[in-house]
Amino acid sequence: MESALTARDRVGVQDFVLLENYNSEAAFIENLRRRFKENLIYTYIGSVLVSVNPYKELEIYSKQQMERYRGVSFYEISPHIYAVSDNTYRAMRTERKDQCILISGESGAGKTEASKKILLYYAVTCPMNDHMAALGDRLLQSNPVLEAFGNAKTLRNDNSSRFGKYMDVQFDFRGAPVGGHILNYLLEKSRVVHQNHGERNFHIFYQLLEGGDEDLLNTLDLERNPQNYQYLVKGNCPRVSSISDKNNWKVVMKALPVIGFTEEEKLLNIIAGVLHLGNTQFGEGEEGETYITTETQITKLVKVRTVSLVLLNVQICTNIHKKALLRMISPLNFEQAISARDALAKAVYGRTFTWLVEKINQSLALKDEIYHSNKGSSVIGLLDIYGFEVLQHNSFEQFCINYCNEKLQQLFIELTLRSEQEEYETEGIAWETVQYFDNKIICDLIEEKHKGIISILDEECLRPGETCDVSFLEKLEDTLGGHPHFVTHKLANGKTRRVMSREEFRLLHYAGEVNYNVNGFLDKNNDLLNRNLKEVMCQSDNQILSRCFRREEVMDQKRPEMAATQFKNSLMKLMEILMSKEPSYVRCIKPNDAKQPGRFDEVLVRHQVKYLGLMENLRVRRAGFAYRRRFEAFLQRYKPLCPETWPNWHGRLVDGVSTLVNHLGYKPEEYKLGRSKIFIRFPKTLFTTEDALEAK
Ligand code: ADP
Ligand code: MG
Repeated sequence: MESALTARDRVGVQDFVLLENYNSEAAFIENLRRRFKENLIYTYIGSVLVSVNPYKELEIYSKQQMERYRGVSFYEISPHIYAVSDNTYRAMRTERKDQCILISGESGAGKTEASKKILLYYAVTCPMNDHMAALGDRLLQSNPVLEAFGNAKTLRNDNSSRFGKYMDVQFDFRGAPVGGHILNYLLEKSRVVHQNHGERNFHIFYQLLEGGDEDLLNTLDLERNPQNYQYLVKGNCPRVSSISDKNNWKVVMKALPVIGFTEEEKLLNIIAGVLHLGNTQFGEGEEGETYITTETQITKLVKVRTVSLVLLNVQICTNIHKKALLRMISPLNFEQAISARDALAKAVYGRTFTWLVEKINQSLALKDEIYHSNKGSSVIGLLDIYGFEVLQHNSFEQFCINYCNEKLQQLFIELTLRSEQEEYETEGIAWETVQYFDNKIICDLIEEKHKGIISILDEECLRPGETCDVSFLEKLEDTLGGHPHFVTHKLANGKTRRVMSREEFRLLHYAGEVNYNVNGFLDKNNDLLNRNLKEVMCQSDNQILSRCFRREEVMDQKRPEMAATQFKNSLMKLMEILMSKEPSYVRCIKPNDAKQPGRFDEVLVRHQVKYLGLMENLRVRRAGFAYRRRFEAFLQRYKPLCPETWPNWHGRLVDGVSTLVNHLGYKPEEYKLGRSKIFIRFPKTLFTTEDALEAK
């Protein structure tokens, strides 16, 4: 039978460490391409799984397939997301150590699908009683709800997650899932009020309009056509062929009670309220004052009782000032009124999302009685987070996302080297130093106290007087000029290859260069919501909202943390969580921008291989030995090649392997014998042995 190793001409190697020329990016991509053409979307780099989005349903996710991967050693059968799931699970069980699976890749590469497959694998294969089955159900059902509120159609992905997600699944001492917890990161709130051409707002808006029945829409005073809502028309894309809003609506409505949700009426009031808020328009009076021109909106808003008090207030203002509205935020000019309205919509949606996640967490929480009888429990964490993002125009959001990826890379290097070192140690093999690029210098550039970019940004936001995005850039130049990873137009003095505008700064990330435009950095970092509006929201008689907007917050004189600092702190916590666990990695790649099966765009793939740091990854993994295998597995496979080991070796395993490789003529520099494994330095050695086996 043709084995994966002998069929390598056709299907490539199933582990990149077996590539002859592991420094060649071309060889790397060719191997990916070959496998992709054969529908082999998974390939390893050692224990890292590389996955290429097939953009079609493959028949490799069945229950039988799950069974195939249960309890089987990692390298014995073809690479698969189930192998990673199973391996992680078994490591948790046998080593009693918390695990995590880090999934990265750019938008549309298949991260969320991968995390769903892992969850499903556990839901199907883990031992369960009824209580646990109910929990597994809640874990799975939380997904459509989170996706309705946190995902949207973008140009790159019809179902793009617009937030980062880390999920802990807790298992008891028998290995059954007993609890879960979700942390969410950086929801893209700006999408609530604006979408780029060809993109949509969050799914839930369309689901409600398309799927809600007449009565519901009447109650909420909504019309069915999304094009009637200012917050839904910006992208000019109300429908997406690959999405059924109607069906998804049903799925979400069914899922809500499963995750213990009884307040959907209040939740839908908020969604409707956001739409009505978006249709609130302003006019300019003779004295430059601003007033609301769409009076009927007020009644609608009152009707859905979301922002009723805002409007009550507004109405009071109206009476006093005739139509000079929004005294509570007055005197606002026209633009300011619009941005106050939008800030309110974003805050309402963003906080409702956070509240929803908390609600889900309550339903997944480890119940007390189980917790106490459950000392021996362990955790598998799943991180599904945006990969490196390099767009035509990069802004504050990309800055945060790419900063996050720098941190993850740092963690990766640290943990990979650590585990390599540990394996060498346990096997009793001398450690060989690995040369690699330490990206700490870039992390420091961004996050260091007082002189990092985030500190400077915060300072500039707080500084009284005229500050603006450009003054922020100048401050960066003053403080960071001369830093090897920081460049601007002025600092470069025309010496860079790519022309930079005066509004940009460039960071030389570990994965490559990215230019960031400073426009909007200050506003986005401030993320201010007018105090009066907050106050009004505290009094909302929608209980979800009154819980999201706390009185203490309004009373508190301290300025809340700014967006970048908040993100930095939540990243620090995430790093701590991940550091305490044993990591596995899934690196996802998108083969084309057309979302089509069968197409492998080499330029696009090369870009991702670069930004995922896969070549570096392979280099670290290949620094010492390309291949390692446990003695019994090695002996089992190759014993027919040596008369002394065939049909059975009766002595110590290590002696058997030694006899075998001597017989095969391995040279001392080609391999080493550890305590339980053989380490082979070059793939060629192994291939020669495979070919001999084939010829037999
Ligand atoms: P990401 O989370 O990385 O942005 P998704 O996981 O949402 O990307 O995947 C985008 C789309 O690609 C999915 O909606 C699905 O159509 C397709 N896809 C991703 N992974 C697979 C897979 N393993 N098999 C089939 N289709 C997939
Ligand atoms: Mg996603």
